[in-house]
Amino acid sequence: MASAKHIFVTGGVTSSLGKGIISSSLGKLLQARGFSVAIQKFDPYINIDPGTLNPYEHGECYVTDDGAETDLDLGHYERFLNVPTSQANNITTGRIYFNVITKEREGAFLGKTVQVVPHITDEIKRNCLLLDQTGKYDIVITEIGGCVGDIEALPFLEAVRQLRWELGPTETLVIHLTLLPYLNSAKELKTKPTQHSVKQLSEAGISPDILVCRTEHHIPVDMRKKIALFCNVNVNSVIESIDAETIYDVPLLMKKEKLDERVLSKLKLAHKTEPNIESWKEFLGKLKNPTSEVTVGLVGKYVELPDAYKSIVESFVHAGAVNECKVKIEWIHSEKLSKENVTQILGNLDAILVAPGFGERGFEGKLDAVQFARVNKIPFFGICLGMQCAVVEFARNVLGLKNAASVEMNKDTPHPVIDLMESQKDVTLKGGTMRLGAYACDLQKGSKAYAIYGKAKIKERHRHRYEFNSKYLAQFEKAGMMASGINPDTKLVEIIELKDHPHFIGAQFHPELKSTVLAPHPLFVDFVKAAILYSKNRK
Ligand code: GLN
Repeated sequence: MASAKHIFVTGGVTSSLGKGIISSSLGKLLQARGFSVAIQKFDPYINIDPGTLNPYEHGECYVTDDGAETDLDLGHYERFLNVPTSQANNITTGRIYFNVITKEREGAFLGKTVQVVPHITDEIKRNCLLLDQTGKYDIVITEIGGCVGDIEALPFLEAVRQLRWELGPTETLVIHLTLLPYLNSAKELKTKPTQHSVKQLSEAGISPDILVCRTEHHIPVDMRKKIALFCNVNVNSVIESIDAETIYDVPLLMKKEKLDERVLSKLKLAHKTEPNIESWKEFLGKLKNPTSEVTVGLVGKYVELPDAYKSIVESFVHAGAVNECKVKIEWIHSEKLSKENVTQILGNLDAILVAPGFGERGFEGKLDAVQFARVNKIPFFGICLGMQCAVVEFARNVLGLKNAASVEMNKDTPHPVIDLMESQKDVTLKGGTMRLGAYACDLQKGSKAYAIYGKAKIKERHRHRYEFNSKYLAQFEKAGMMASGINPDTKLVEIIELKDHPHFIGAQFHPELKSTVLAPHPLFVDFVKAAILYSKNRK
């Protein structure tokens, strides 16, 4: 049974209010008071996981150490709490149904009619308590995706209602995140949508304990009283969440509003200590007072939706702060790049990052970007597909291997420098079939990668099907592209770098998935450093 306290975060009025950031910020404050906190996300869609979702649909797919393909909010949980998440932290309706239907086929229900209540709700509750059962946490925060009022959210809300009843009033808490829209014509914030969404939540049998109200303007005291009156909460449980300059301000704003104190007193938890957020404040201080500025080009094909590159963007925030440098990202659509316009589009950048991705679209443009960075000695960082592009570009333009390619883009290429691994060749299913999760990597002494990490053994997270084809390795190394990171078990090439270039690094893994506020990723920190140097030397 449960031993942790459970906090549920629901959302109303509209999606995209930032439940993930509120959950992470609250988690941070509670953690900073000495509690051990986990955050999990329940998503109401039918996909088993977001691994098969197009980035345009749902933003980046965040991969955990254990190889789970999860919602991008888990990235926020890790970046704020600095604690790794896992498959158990992200459950979808699809997975719940999959588990129940699998049990039904096994005959586990002994002839009973299988129904949403109790079978689906039981499975939701079982999953909800999984992290708690590890015994590692004092508090588990569960973010319920989507909006109150969505048909697909109903079984989750019903499960929350039942859990509230079963675990008892001081063991659980519901925070409802809503919006107070500002009507310009009336010059007023409006509370009606909040009232309606609380009403909808109570129709599901749940009365929220705390309301967090997203707003563009400060909420006057009278309005807080009005919301409290209509929504059955104490006035000091109406929390203002005003638009912030950066998401990293939100924990401090929530502290100012005493969200953590309200939570602790409602859960009858002793306010052990004041939150220790000194290192967080130090990070914010550096972030907001940069002494230099660089512009990094992010070359990718999903640039219309920056959420597709969420973790990369946040890694630059962390790495920028360490370097006291403002990192401006220029979004460059790889489909629009060609040999003819590359100088004009990339000529003013201080560094170039070629992003991860899948499929042929925009591939040639990425190769043009790599070549431009290599030839002009502009700091370059290739991530996953970006690293594969660096390998293909080098094969074609330095080794002279005509039509060299990744077999993902051209399966009949005469030079498959990026190839499918034997173990991947018979895989026909899409979901969960890539090289996923954390793998070990040994760094070669004397390499840039070794100097950057400051150690020989690392572990990084992967999400890809194709690999550097080691048959070509000797040829590459002879010409100056070295494999500076090798998987000790499979001997697969995990990092490549160029010897005669100030900063040219490609990683087959995704370093952005491990960068946090308190532990910015060394590859990003060094890339920003190289960009600063390049920009200074140019002036
Ligand atoms: N499409 C490439 C592969 O599957 C790279 C994937 C990625 O960038 N995440 O190997």
